[in-house]
Amino acid sequence: MEQTNVSSLVLQIICNSVISGLHKRIRYGGTCECWLPRFNKSETDDTNDNDKIIVTSDSCTKCKQDRLIHMDEVSFDHDVQSVTNELRFRIEQRTGLTASAGVC
Ligand SMILES: [Zn+2]
Repeated sequence: MEQTNVSSLVLQIICNSVISGLHKRIRYGGTCECWLPRFNKSETDDTNDNDKIIVTSDSCTKCKQDRLIHMDEVSFDHDVQSVTNELRFRIEQRTGLTASAGVC
């Protein structure tokens, strides 16, 4: 991701975090492995407040195997570490990739 995109994403996070608290999160499971990010049951997760995950299934358009779609909502606080976590969350939701981010 280019530097300018990250900068505009950070600015977007700061502006949006003041307005709304909840963000829709989508993760994929099932025998299909075409879609990211993956849903990992063993993953410790303290960003999901209500622990309500809606799971739907369909057939993958690429590999034709079963795809599970896990949807829930997550929230982030307004402190520096939470904004960093939200940045990583948004990058993962858009690209399916994890990113490292630190606070200096
Ligand atoms: Zn697939």
